[in-house]
Amino acid sequence: MSKCITKQQKNAGQATIAVRGGLNTDNQYGSVVPVITPSTCYRYHEFAKPREFDYGRKANPSRRLVEETIAQLEGGADAILTNCGMSAIHLISVALLTPNDLIVAPHDCYGGSYRLFNSLSQRGAFKVKFIDQSDPLALQEALALKPKLVLIETPSNPLLRVVDIQAIAKQAHEVGALVLVDNTFMTPILQQPLALGADIVTHSCTKFLNGHSDLLAGILVFKDQKLADDVLWWANNIGTLTSAFDSYLLLRGLRTLSARVSLQQANAQKVVEFLVNHPKVANVYHPSLSSNVGHDIAQKQQKGFGSLLSFELAGDPAVMPTFLQALNLFTLAQSLGGVESLICHPATMTHSGISAEARKTAGISDQLLRISVGLEDVDDIIGDLDQALAAIA
Ligand code: PLP
Repeated sequence: MSKCITKQQKNAGQATIAVRGGLNTDNQYGSVVPVITPSTCYRYHEFAKPREFDYGRKANPSRRLVEETIAQLEGGADAILTNCGMSAIHLISVALLTPNDLIVAPHDCYGGSYRLFNSLSQRGAFKVKFIDQSDPLALQEALALKPKLVLIETPSNPLLRVVDIQAIAKQAHEVGALVLVDNTFMTPILQQPLALGADIVTHSCTKFLNGHSDLLAGILVFKDQKLADDVLWWANNIGTLTSAFDSYLLLRGLRTLSARVSLQQANAQKVVEFLVNHPKVANVYHPSLSSNVGHDIAQKQQKGFGSLLSFELAGDPAVMPTFLQALNLFTLAQSLGGVESLICHPATMTHSGISAEARKTAGISDQLLRISVGLEDVDDIIGDLDQALAAIA
């Protein structure tokens, strides 16, 4: 792949890598912030002598800077930036799976991933098995079918269940499977799946990596250069690219990633404490709680518990609209990971694409709400929840 030569100190920390990604790469004017390169094509040196970049579908300098920065953050050999999280997951399934191949995915994975695997498998593109990956027997049975790919999503969406990446990767490798981890909820600041044995990491960069809810992008980060090159061939073949401008914005968002993740996580911890003690709240789901599935794994696997949490309202299910209507600060919206606090009702929003039965199996009740805690003053965040809870019977 082409290189943009982002200069980084050797062994730089995560915050340093994120802040300095792509800085000082402009040789023409010496601008500190990298230039945006929208050109779709690049002048050949001469006949049969292309430059580093030749055509924008395959690679683009602005995109490359983001790919190099996120690859470095995840400790990978290389990365491919795509136009959204789903196109990254689609790309890897097209590149790796043929009709007889099996993918094993969590039964409580992101609803869009569930829908994609389900619908493609129904058309015969590959086979899929959704399992509860925290159940050792279910995992053992699925791996006995010799899958080609195992998707891990931890903490899961929306119930924040945590599974052991290292243990699952080890077992998956024993049967010859590749391991893909969706690290969207944690970011490389809090969890580094490649170091735990995964082969590929994916993100919806639409979320924390950008952090400002103003662009869509996805990424695949590879441990192995050869696999990255093979998948890049497919990326160019299909055309899964991100624009130069969105790449620039994403790189700008990354500069504050470490600070945002720490502050949002600190706010979330206080929100968890508030909700756990509230009489109108039935259950709270957050990896910091000892009641959470995989809390002990989270303590060793993650560098923090993150800023996403979910909870169920106690009592009559009919109070849901009243509660949501009463919120003033929180915005009812599908996404997560931005600087603003969002709330979502998975059954009718993020997970509406999967059947009611599959939602029930995954434990996603109609009473469940997911919160992405933002960077507002924490007293305002908690105050908003408090007054909305007071508004329901
Ligand atoms: N993976 C996870 C965990 C997600 O939450 C999402 C979106 O919400 C995606 C993947 C898909 O990302 P995008 O919306 O950027 O296509």
